[in-house]
This record gives sequence, C-alpha cells and structure tokens, in this order.
Amino acid sequence: MKGREEEAPLDCIVIGAGPGGLQAAIHLARYNFKVLLFHHPGGRTWHARRIENYLGLQEIAGPALLETGLAQAARFGVAVERGKVERVTRRDGLFEVRIGGSSRSSRFVIAASGARESLAPIKNIERFFGVSYFTCLICDGYRTTGKKLLVTDCTVAGIRTSLGMKQLYTDDVTFLAHGFAPPPEYAALLADEGIPWIEGRPEALVGDKDLSGVLLSDGRTIDCEAVMGWGGIALNDDYLSDLPLQRDANDFKFRTHGSSESSIPGLFVLGALRRGHSQAIISAGQGAEAAIEISSRLVDL
Ligand SMILES: Cc1cc2nc3c(=O)[nH]c(=O)nc-3n(C[C@H](O)[C@H](O)[C@H](O)COP(=O)(O)OP(=O)(O)OC[C@H]3O[C@@H](n4cnc5c(N)ncnc54)[C@H](O)[C@@H]3O)c2cc1C
Repeated sequence: MKGREEEAPLDCIVIGAGPGGLQAAIHLARYNFKVLLFHHPGGRTWHARRIENYLGLQEIAGPALLETGLAQAARFGVAVERGKVERVTRRDGLFEVRIGGSSRSSRFVIAASGARESLAPIKNIERFFGVSYFTCLICDGYRTTGKKLLVTDCTVAGIRTSLGMKQLYTDDVTFLAHGFAPPPEYAALLADEGIPWIEGRPEALVGDKDLSGVLLSDGRTIDCEAVMGWGGIALNDDYLSDLPLQRDANDFKFRTHGSSESSIPGLFVLGALRRGHSQAIISAGQGAEAAIEISSRLVDL
C-alpha cells in the first residue's frame, strides 16, 4: 500500500471549513478538480449564534451554516478530513501540507483558517458573548438598536465606536474607559455628542438570562442591556510560519493581490488572514474568487 506522501498531488488543498474554505472547495469540486479540505472544528463562524446578513438566509446559526456547507461540499465530491494542519511548505513546485504525522501535496493551497477572539478577561463573558456582549459593530451593532448600551475599550478606538453606535443604533450610550482617561479633545467629543463616560475596570457581566449591568473592580455596577467591547483577534496562521510570506505594514495580516493570492504564487489567503472586512459572506466571496482563479490556472479555459 502506498504511503500518503507517495499519493498523487491533489489539485488544491483547502485549510479551514469556514465560509471561505467551504465556498472555495465547493467551487473547485464543481470543476471536478481533486480537492481535499482540512476541517478543524471551531472558528469564528462557529461562534456566531445568529447570522442575519447572509443573502438568502433570513437567519442562521453559524454552526448550521457550516454543517450545511460541509454537506454541500461532500455532495460535489470534496474529500473532508478532520484535523489541524501543522505545517505548509513548498518544494519542487508543489505545496506539502503536514497533518497528524503524514503529509499531502497539492498544486494550490487555499488558507482559510480565520482568526480567534482574544476576549477581555471579564467574568461571565462566555455566557453573554454574541448574545449581549459584542465585539463587532458590523456583525452585531444592529442587535443593540434602542438598547441601553455600554461601550468599553482600553484605547480611544472605543470613543470612535461610541460615537458610531450613537449615530447608528441607540441614543443611550455610555463609554467605559478601561484603565485610562480620555484625552481632553476626545472627552470634548463625547460631551458634544451627549455620551457620558466613566473610568473603570470591568470585572464581571451581571444578569442571569439577560444582561443587566457590568460590575466594576471598584464595586460600582453600571446598568446596561448590551455591551460593545473589543479584545482583539489572533490569526490561525502557525502552520504558515515556514513560508516567507509578506505581511502588511503592521506585520499582522498577509499581503494579497488579485484574487486573494499571497506573495507566494499558488498560495491563496482568505478571510481574516488577509486585509479587509471580516464577514461570513465576504470570506465566501473571496473563496469563490480564489477557486475560479485557480481553475483558470489548472486548465486553459
Ligand atoms: C460572535 C461572532 C458573531 C459574528 N456574527 C457575524 C454575522 O452576523 N455576520 C457575518 O457575516 N459575520 C459574523 N461574524 C464574523 C464571521 O464569523 C467571520 O467573518 C467569518 O468567520 C469568516 O469566515 P472564515 O471562513 O474566513 O473563517 P472561520 O469561520 O473562522 O473559519 C475558519 C476555520 O478554519 C479552522 N482552522 C483554524 N486553524 C486551522 C488549521 N490549522 N487546520 C485546519 N483548520 C483550521 C477553524 O477551526 C475554522 O473552522 C461573527 C463573528 C463572531 C466571533
């Protein structure tokens, strides 16, 4: 029996079964290319409890969107293997993708492994994350419409968020400056917009089913029905560290051009790994675009 290393190279290996990777795999499989999708459960879509801004789906939970996508990919012959890719290298014009002690080679790779949240260390945050504690204005700002909202951040970025939330969603916004006092020009901006601010450290989210407030480390409780916070993201990119990929000016996201192609020809990088807005439908669009570009290189259309 042949070892996996000796198997014929695949046309494309897709890493990550979020909307980006699944859409790419579905498009590639519908050209009858040989596609292998590595699926390590979890990811940001998995944590999205209610997606309402994906065309054609009135409302869908992130896990349901992914389960449907996996079934759709299987229907067109995508080979799906569960596991976490450990390493991608390039040799003799092929990519080698290492996982669980063996490796597979392919002519193209689509890295669609997304990012993970670094949530602020606030007690009960997991219970309310995505329900009434939010980190993304585009995803969840709408859910705060008309609510008593607390925006919290440890930088002035939160002040800009506060102003935006007031313009778009609710008149009742308070800014909690986490461990800093806003500089005078920003404090003046908040005053002009009628947004009160408090300096303090959030310790716990309070409430049983519904959020009722945020307990600060000094014992005060700020009443609110929703919180917009920000803890940052870390990219799921460890497996790319052997490749000399160019990153952006902040040395964070990967540089791409054209249809999400990275600085290494044949390696496409989607979703949160590249610059741009992070949304399920955007990742899916990037996946489709990368797949179509790959198809045009695999055959002369
Ligand atoms: C709470 C929350 C709510 C959101 N709400 C919305 C919303 O309402 N609408 C919207 O459009 N967007 C929403 N988003 C954003 C949306 O989830 C992301 O934009 C979307 O996940 C991007 O899709 P993706 O395919 O690029 O990445 P992901 O969905 O993160 O998928 C990446 C996949 O790759 C896997 N993976 C990671 N590392 C590896 C590895 N080494 N090997 C194999 N697999 C790996 C991950 O486990 C994951 O399954 C929300 C995000 C969060 C966190």
